[in-house]
Order: sequence, then C-alpha cells, then structure tokens
Amino acid sequence: MPGIPFTTGAPARAGRALVWAMVLAWGAWVAQAAAAEPGPIDRMEAAARSNPDAVADELDRLLATDAIKGLPRLEAAFLLGSVRSKLNQPAAAEAVAQALLKPGAAAHASIPREHLAAVAACIRAVIIYDDSGSLVRADAMITEVEATLRNVASLLIRGRCLDVQATIKQNLGQAEDSVRLFQEVIRLADESGLAWRRSAARSGLAYALFRAGQLEHAGRLNDDAKKIATDAEDWFALSVVATTEAILLTDAGKTEQELAALTGAIEYARRAGATRDEALGLSNLADFYLHQADYARAYQIAQRAVPLARSLRQVGTENLAKLNSGLALISLRRLDEGMALIKPVLEHDRASNDLAGLKESTSDVARYLEKAGYQAEAFAAYQSLRGLMAELARRDQQAAVLELQEGFDAQQRRRELALLNEDNALKEEQLRRRDLEYKVWALTAVIVLFLLALAARMYRGLRATQLALRQRNAQLKRHSLQDPLTGLANRRQFHELTEADGAHGPARGTLYLLDLDHFKSINDRHGHAAGDAVLVEVARRLSTVLREEDLVVRWGGEEFLVLVPGMARERVEPLAQRLLNAVAGMPVSLGDQRLDVTTSIGFAEFPLMPQCLDMPWDMAVDIVDNAMYVAKTLGRNRACGISAVPAGTLAEVDLLTQDLERSWREGRVQMKVLQGPAVQEALA
Ligand code: GH3
Ligand code: MG
Ligand code: MG
Repeated sequence: MPGIPFTTGAPARAGRALVWAMVLAWGAWVAQAAAAEPGPIDRMEAAARSNPDAVADELDRLLATDAIKGLPRLEAAFLLGSVRSKLNQPAAAEAVAQALLKPGAAAHASIPREHLAAVAACIRAVIIYDDSGSLVRADAMITEVEATLRNVASLLIRGRCLDVQATIKQNLGQAEDSVRLFQEVIRLADESGLAWRRSAARSGLAYALFRAGQLEHAGRLNDDAKKIATDAEDWFALSVVATTEAILLTDAGKTEQELAALTGAIEYARRAGATRDEALGLSNLADFYLHQADYARAYQIAQRAVPLARSLRQVGTENLAKLNSGLALISLRRLDEGMALIKPVLEHDRASNDLAGLKESTSDVARYLEKAGYQAEAFAAYQSLRGLMAELARRDQQAAVLELQEGFDAQQRRRELALLNEDNALKEEQLRRRDLEYKVWALTAVIVLFLLALAARMYRGLRATQLALRQRNAQLKRHSLQDPLTGLANRRQFHELTEADGAHGPARGTLYLLDLDHFKSINDRHGHAAGDAVLVEVARRLSTVLREEDLVVRWGGEEFLVLVPGMARERVEPLAQRLLNAVAGMPVSLGDQRLDVTTSIGFAEFPLMPQCLDMPWDMAVDIVDNAMYVAKTLGRNRACGISAVPAGTLAEVDLLTQDLERSWREGRVQMKVLQGPAVQEALA
C-alpha cells in the first residue's frame, strides 16, 4: 500500500495517530536490560519516535560498517527494519531482513544462526502487518520463532517481539491474548527503567483494553502513562497519551474533554518535533469537527495538515487531510470544490490497489453527499461502494482459503518433525492420535474459516482507524448491507438507498420482484446446499442481464427485487422477458445434475400511469408483489407487468391492486402477461 504511512488496510480519515503510537511501542526496545541509563541504541530508538527518517539513515550508515557486532547489531537491525517498514518502505525493510539471513557475513559471526533467522522473521511479520498482508501469516511467523526468541539474551528483542505479537493479536480480534502480551510488555518496560518506554507500554495496553471493551481499566492505565510521561517531560509520550485519551472519550459525550485531548495531542507532537504526528493530530481534530457538524472549522483544520504532510512527502497523510477537507466542503455545499479534492484521493487508492481504503473513503463520501442533500451523487457513490464490497468480499474469501492452506501446511510440517523425533515404539499410538487430532483440526479449520471471514470483515477497517468509533459503527453497518450468500445488496441496503428520498418516497423507477418457482422442492429433492447454489447462480445470471447502475436486492429467501432507475418505457417489458429467460433459459448445473429453474415476476414502472401519483416505496413494492402473485396463480414462469392503474388517490390505487387479478379481469387495471421460456420438466 505505497503512500500510506504507518497504517495498513483501511484508509481511515481519523485515527492514524494511534497507529503511530504503536510505532512508539514497537520501537521501544533496546538492549541493556535493567539499565536505567539509556545506551546509544536506546537513544536512537527514542529519537525515531519523532524523527524516524533521520534515525533510519543513521542506522543504515551504522550497519554498513563492521564496527557494530553481536547482539547490538542484531538490535540495531531490528530497529532499522521496523522503522523502514513504518515509514512505508517495505522493500528497504525486507533488505534488512535479508541481510540478516545472508550466509557467512563477517559481522554476524558471533550471532547464532537461529537468532538471526528469528529476528528476520519478526521484521517480516512487521512488514506484513504494515503492508496490509495476512495477519494470520504474520502471527504464525512470530509464533514459529517464539521459543527461539525466549533464549536471546536481549530485553530489546524479547520485548519488541512481544509487542509485535500483541499488536497482531489485537488486530486479529484475540483480545485476551493481546491484553496478556501487552501486560508482559509493561513488565519488561518497567525492568528497563526508561520512562518513555514505560509510558508507551501502558498506552498500548490502554488501547488494547479499550478494544476489548474495558473502558474504565483502560482509562486508569492511560492515566498511569500520563503521570510517567509528565514526570519525565516527554512530549512525544504525552502526545500519545492525549491521543489515547481522545479515543477513550469517543462517544462518551464529553466533547469538551475530547477536544482538549485532541488539541493537546497536536501541541505535544509539535513540541516533540514530530511533524507527522502533528499532521495526523490535525486530521483527527478535523474529523472531530466534521462529526460536530462544524464544517467551516473542519475545513480550516484539515487544510493546516496539508502543507505539513507535503513537507514530509507522505502521500497517505496528505490524502487524509484532502479527504477531510473535501468532506467539509461538500457539507458546506461547495460540491465541485470538494469533489475536486476527493477524486485524486480515490484514484490514488485505486491505483495502489488499496480496495479497503477505497471502500472506506467511498463510504464516507457517499454519507456526506447524502447528508448534504446531493441525492444523485450519493446514489452513484453507493453504487460504486456496492461494487467495491463485492470485489473485497471475493478477495477476502480467496485470502482466507489461502491462509487456511498455509496454516495447514505449517501445522503438518511441525507434526511430522515431532513424529520423527519420537521413539519408534510409540509411533503407532501416535499415528492413531494424529488421526484424531487431524479430525479435530479439520473441524477447527472450518470454525477458523468462518471466524476469519468474520474477523476479516470486522477488523480490516478497525486496524488503522483508531480514533473514530463512530466511523467504525457506520462501517459495520455498511457490512450489514450485503447478503452474504449471493453478494447482492440486502433489504437494508435497499431501504437505505430509497430512504435517501425521504422515508416515504416517492418511488421512482421500474421495480421487478422475482420469486423462484417451487423452490421448496429443489431443497427437498437435492438438499439445502443445492438450493443455496441455485440462489448464487440465479443472482449471477440476474447481474449479467442488468447494468452497473441497477440495484439487485436479495429480498428474501428466494425472492429478488430489481430496481432500474430512469429506463425508457419501451424497455420495461423486454427487460422482464430477459429476466425470465436469464433464470429459466438454461438449466442450472449442479455437479453432474442439471436443474430447471423458473421464476415468477411482478413488475411496474413508478410513478404508475396514467395519474402518476407519488407513492411510498413500500407501497410500490407491495404492488409488484401482488403482480408477482398473479403470475404464480396464472401458472408460474411468467411475468405480470402493471401498465396502468387509473386512480385519483392512493387509497383507490390500494383498492384496485389488492385483488389485482380481479381488477385486471374486470378491465379496471391494465396488465401485460409475459410467458417464460419452455422448460423440459416442471418442478412441482
Ligand atoms: P412458489 O414460490 O412457486 O409458490 O413455491 P416455493 O416452493 O418457492 O414456495 P415458498 O416461496 O413458500 O418457499 C420458499 C422456500 O425457499 C422455503 C425455504 O425453505 C426456501 N429458502 C428460503 N431461503 C433459503 C435459502 O437461503 N437457501 C435455501 N436453500 N432455501 C431457502
Ligand atoms: Mg417465496
Ligand atoms: Mg418461491
């Protein structure tokens, strides 16, 4: 994810600052256990918090010589690798890991081979984390070298790895493990006796506790961190403390305190000379004002972050500021200016293949457009959001399967090694146990796959967006807008989109309601899984007939609702015919079976001819539902389209469409019946 500093995955308007706080914790480990007096690498590590570029260059120079050897060299490499990674320079970080693995390097002569490999693995885990890679893989990497690391006589290396591990577990949603590991980090920090490290470790745990829902406990720890940082007059640590405090206050309704914490964080970062954190703090503050609906101030603050970010040449930080500025402008009803700022940000996310980031930014843009009353633009943004969500869901699914496979391979390798070392006499018994374990593992794998999919959804965004819990909730809500089986929009999304016109409509566009025929008997004859597969295939076929800007909703079990906006009247019926044909035109293949599937459709264009009365969406849906029901009673595999309901009031419309078939036969309503394609064998 080039260009986005210190964060992974989600783009996150607010809250990059805490990610930086994590950098501090990760960077918090140096050798010389129990030495209260910082050594040279300690000092570099402390300096890297506010000035990572300069420290990374200095470390490069240091490691280019053979002057530094043994454990200090290993520690310096660890520091350099993580700082490069945090600076969004994964290739440079990987080069550090590779240098450690290079056989026969003279400077590494006194370092055990497995220690070099273990630290390289940790650096790679950091790179994976920072670069939005697979958290499960990063976790497995560290777990594999954990035992080796315990034997390294370096507080720095042990503490640092623990911290990486704790952070990864936190993002995997393993709150308990993460809290336990952060507690160990504190213990080691206290052992080192360095104030900034002790403060950082406590802020880290405070955040983990916050994520685990233990607000009070989190508050106490951050207060401890504040006291330590205040006593030591460590501005950077104070900036982290203030940011964490703001996070803890999010949604607590204490806006004044939250504001004080946010401005404090900026001021402390400025005093610490940490330009990047100052820019991120400004973005957090702009986000705060956006939520307070003080758009003029939000714009002004976000604009202050732009030149800071530019001076650092940090595209991600600059884009964050631009996005915030654009959202504020939209809310100030300066649409063109706002979009001019936002478009390049979205294009950058797309170009760097940061789909998760793009999705979150798009979702923000859609929401702000909608709130400012730009309905058409909001609708378009929601449409592209829908496409993105489908794209992401596909990618997450593939990643989950790959991870599962990798985890399986690693597990098997470990088990085989263990078996080789065992006594021969035990082998048979072990094989039996292994078989049992294998079965248990397979079951676990299924559960893991499920949890992974869930975790991927819930935590992708969470990872980088720390400050805005509100934003988080909005995001979770978006996730619940999609039907998990078919990837189509669900009922909620339909309501959200149509309610943009006001909860009561008026309904506009052509609605098609499809209900698959005799679906129960597909389930009965071929099983529920086959039924599911048919639903997925039908969803796919519908999408091929429709355009990007049409909305396809999984309305209920085997019901689909299609909304086509702004279509020429003469295309309404042909589309109904195409929908009938798409479903029933050829059988659905399930393994070696071929199933004939048909559907009944009710449809109408709104506002209804000839009076064109405005009516609420739910009434419009009821009307096409009634038409669908007529299609069922006429023999299924048909589409019934209402073309005219002569009525002067909604009450009359209601009366005429309640018993639609009768009104139609009596000539009081005009309706067209289309026949679906002939199928070989009727289902029922
Ligand atoms: P018809 O609509 O033609 O009157 O007959 P039908 O058999 O489709 O009747 P109905 O609409 O009452 O039944 C729908 C069935 O769809 C009932 C339910 O078991 C099944 N169903 C609903 N949701 C799902 C799902 O997600 N997966 C599967 N496999 N079946 C589902
Ligand atoms: Mg049904
Ligand atoms: Mg049905």
